[in-house]
Amino acid sequence: MQMMVRVIAVSSLIHMIPFTANAQAPVQRYRLAAAQILGTSLQSSTAYDQLGELCDHVGNRISGSERLDQAIAWAVKTMKADGLQNVHTEKILVPYWKRGTEKAWTISPQRHELSVLGLGMSVATPQGGITADVVVVGSYDELDRLGEAGVKGKIVLYDVPFAGYGKTVGYRVGGASRAAKYGAVASLVRSVGSLSFDTPHTGTLSYNENLPKIPSAAVTIENSMMMRRMAQRGERIQLHLEMDNILIPDQPSANVVGEIVGKEKPQEVVLMGGHLDSWDVGQGAQDDGVGCLITLGAARAILDAGLHPKRTIRVVFFTNEENGDFGGKGYRDAHKPELGNFVAVLESDSGNGPVKGFTLDFHGEGPSKISVATPEEKDRAGKSLARMKSLNPLLEPLGATNMELGGSGTDVGSMVAEGVPGIGVSHDTTHYWEIHHTKADTFDKVIKLDMQKNIAAVGILAYVLAEMDETLR
Ligand SMILES: [Zn+2]
Repeated sequence: MQMMVRVIAVSSLIHMIPFTANAQAPVQRYRLAAAQILGTSLQSSTAYDQLGELCDHVGNRISGSERLDQAIAWAVKTMKADGLQNVHTEKILVPYWKRGTEKAWTISPQRHELSVLGLGMSVATPQGGITADVVVVGSYDELDRLGEAGVKGKIVLYDVPFAGYGKTVGYRVGGASRAAKYGAVASLVRSVGSLSFDTPHTGTLSYNENLPKIPSAAVTIENSMMMRRMAQRGERIQLHLEMDNILIPDQPSANVVGEIVGKEKPQEVVLMGGHLDSWDVGQGAQDDGVGCLITLGAARAILDAGLHPKRTIRVVFFTNEENGDFGGKGYRDAHKPELGNFVAVLESDSGNGPVKGFTLDFHGEGPSKISVATPEEKDRAGKSLARMKSLNPLLEPLGATNMELGGSGTDVGSMVAEGVPGIGVSHDTTHYWEIHHTKADTFDKVIKLDMQKNIAAVGILAYVLAEMDETLR
């Protein structure tokens, strides 16, 4: 009965994948396989159920925590159950940033309790907290104009409206040190997200080692806007902040690896994965439990379809993406001699919105860097992208045909910098930035059909990359 269902499904699905104008085009060879992967992906809810297990049984899992250790053990068991080969862990040392009590309230012009989340890697406040006046700025230019005279001894609040993650996140990452340069005693950042129901969005910061380290936390969009209004009225804002988090360096952790070993060129590798660590709030469902399980689901969809590619498909769940990238960099260091054999490194780390296509991160030359690339580099990137685009007929039933130059992912970024073509999954992120790095990143918001389609798109692309004569290099 199962087989019957599959045969019917694939025979109808294959008609959804169009013939290109040139029926001899190499892509035609993969029409049946793509239809099979589409069929097995849409008929399986295993990856979705596994994500539910990870979220409900383990929950959030910051680097170095016992919960991340539980998640790693769970991932080994799950990859084996899914039929992957050579399942193992690779040890990595990671920082363990442990959140403590966090409290903040305004004292003047009125007492308001504020929902805050300390930024990952932040130092704590002195015992008893910090009480100081708040200065509200909307940009670094504004901060620079105020200079030491306007900032020294104060708490700087960056009230910067969300203009896209890439454009706004810099204030969260670098704002503390920038404020410390002018003598600020702490910094706050308006949550880097597109929506808030009194939900602060956490995330990592990065200190300039040459400047004093000051504590830093995210406030909600609501409270940031309130303090902006107070400042505009000329009111004095006095605020109290307490944070007693600690940082434990060099905790043992691991990347988790499993493979479908290639039947003709096993040494050539298509790597795909996500990161298993998450922030310590919510369930880490879409950041990035789902990315891990989209790639594992894609590998299983290939196996379920009875396909066995020429090259190896390797699934990696990275550790410590969120606050250090030790998992990605450690993987690169440990595998340097074989990077020349990597056909592509794909990362799924932008949630579970419907897949729109893929971005090609060619020698690190995404849109930001292509402008400074040499004509030869641009030519190579263009040719590589054309090869990606030639696969579009296979992805048409999923609407995943938007192929462009762009970023790939933090975990694979260091391998891309070594010359391995990187691939990012483009999703509709309309609702992703609403819940990213918040308590609200929970399993209930993961839509099963979207996840199945994401799995199908990644599965089809990974299979063809592991099979095709040319590579993206
Ligand atoms: Zn992530």
